[in-house]
Amino acid sequence: MRITSVVTNLFQPKFNVPTNLNNRSVQNNNLTYPNDVFVKNNCQNFEGAKLQKSTFRNVAANAHLGCVYCGRHMFTNKEKDILSKSLKDVPAKAFTTIMGDFLSYFDDMGITLLNKLDEVATNYPQAKLREVLQVVTPGAEDRLVNRQKEIFKEILDLKTLLPEQQQKELKTLIGASISSVDGEPFLMEFSGKEYSYRIKRLASTMNNTKDAEFMTNMASILSHPIFKTDTPLTPKIIAQVAKLTKTPRLNIRPTTENAKEKIQLHIINKIKQIGERDKNTNIVNLCNISMQRIANIPVNSNFSNKAFIYKLQNILEGNVNQATIEVFANVYKKLPKSSNSIDAFVIKNKTATNQAIINNFLDSYTVTIEHIIPSSKGGENNIKNWALACKKCNGQHGSEDIKTDYPFSRTAPQKYFNTIIQDCNENDLFTPDEVKGMAKNFETTTGIKIDLSELKE
Ligand SMILES: [Zn+2]
Repeated sequence: MRITSVVTNLFQPKFNVPTNLNNRSVQNNNLTYPNDVFVKNNCQNFEGAKLQKSTFRNVAANAHLGCVYCGRHMFTNKEKDILSKSLKDVPAKAFTTIMGDFLSYFDDMGITLLNKLDEVATNYPQAKLREVLQVVTPGAEDRLVNRQKEIFKEILDLKTLLPEQQQKELKTLIGASISSVDGEPFLMEFSGKEYSYRIKRLASTMNNTKDAEFMTNMASILSHPIFKTDTPLTPKIIAQVAKLTKTPRLNIRPTTENAKEKIQLHIINKIKQIGERDKNTNIVNLCNISMQRIANIPVNSNFSNKAFIYKLQNILEGNVNQATIEVFANVYKKLPKSSNSIDAFVIKNKTATNQAIINNFLDSYTVTIEHIIPSSKGGENNIKNWALACKKCNGQHGSEDIKTDYPFSRTAPQKYFNTIIQDCNENDLFTPDEVKGMAKNFETTTGIKIDLSELKE
């Protein structure tokens, strides 16, 4: 199909991948690195932060380097954007055909989903992706809800491990979650901490960084502990809110009736206005639901794994020991995610646009920087401690000790390092010292020894 060649042409390397040390120009069959912008001195001044990260990620471009854990090829964010933008209007059949060129990027779930889509699309060649997605797995919603409820029950059964107050909080959370997956409205206390966390996440996807920062700053004050206690507001906090929200005359005093609720609503309303102006429905919805919660109105809200886990962790935090936290984690980790359950993917995307569906599908297979030794275990933030991993693998180890229980491909790491070694030997992309550092950190954290005998000094 012609579209295939158009899309693969877009993948011809146009990405600038400056080397991290010199301003040399590097070329091989797969990649060109023109216009190197860094010189050695500049880079040392940066001490390995930020700029190197984005350039390192580009080494995955054009299938040059696979994931260190599973070995599959990875899309860069730029490649993901090109695909989702250029394919958003093609029929589902064309989409599945084009994805056939990228099978080395997908895992079993991705390939199964593509096959299911292709089967339906073949019978309806003009159907759009979102139409096909809606019929691809009959009964998906019921299956998903049943599975979620099983896991909720398992979590609730663990309540005896918690102190009394936390048992109550857990029951409330599970009750609300069941209503949520059943699509029924429920009463849920407003949590400024949760709201601020979610606004921060939504803000990180906005193009306008000024608005994003403005919103994040306004929301952050809602996580102030004063909102969770009976202590009255102080003039200082009110003044701070007036300043943060750019409201010269804020008509609320500590003695005003329901002063706290009024302050909360004032801030949320300001954030909602930005959401409305940017036509960002996620922000507007979150604000609407939050306002309903503050006013004690039952809300109808979609279940979100991330929000659920966040709330559960908040309940556990500081009240139980690490071993108990792990017991809970082992259960909530089983919640179906759109990255590991076709049913969850279909339900999550049932009202999404074609472009969003493609973007969400490719997202699991995009490149991320993996901190080989986690920062929580003292891992440094520099090239020697970075590896490239697909988003799926990167999100998979979590709290597990991957040294004792290595859940990934045993052959992928050596394959990954062979490419890195080649990039060092032939292209000067990395220094031998850096490669040795990466391999050493990798061995420390995974117990897997990397053969560096091909590395030229
Ligand atoms: Zn992977």
